Amino acid sequence: MLDALAEVDKCARCGFCEAVCPTYNALRMRHYGPRGRLRMARAALADSSVSSLVLESLATCLRCRACELVCPASIRIVDVIMEARRRLYEDPRRVRRRA
Ligand code: SF4
Ligand code: SF4
Repeated sequence: MLDALAEVDKCARCGFCEAVCPTYNALRMRHYGPRGRLRMARAALADSSVSSLVLESLATCLRCRACELVCPASIRIVDVIMEARRRLYEDPRRVRRRA
C-alpha cells in the first residue's frame, strides 16, 4: 500500500524532474512540475481545506512518468499525485476558490 506522505518526504528538492516534465517546460511555473506537485500533494493529503491552485496543479499532471525515470529518490510521483487528487475529488468542499 502506498504511504503517500512518506513518498513526499523522500523528495530532496534536487529539481532533476523539472527538466523532463512537459507541463513544467510549457508553463515554467513550479506548481506545474513534479517537485511542486509533490508539495501540493502534501497539502491535499492533509485534511484541511486547500486553494484551488492545489487541485489545478494535481489535475494537470499528464501521468507520463518522465519525472519518475530521473528521480534519484525513486519516488512514486504519479501514484502520490493521483492519491492526492482522489482525496480532493472525493471531498470537493475542501477546495477553496481563489479570489
Ligand atoms: S527528482 Fe525526485 S527528489 Fe528530485 S526534486 Fe524531483 S521528485 Fe524530488
Ligand atoms: S507524470 Fe506529471 S509531473 Fe511527472 S513528468 Fe509527467 S506531467 Fe510532469
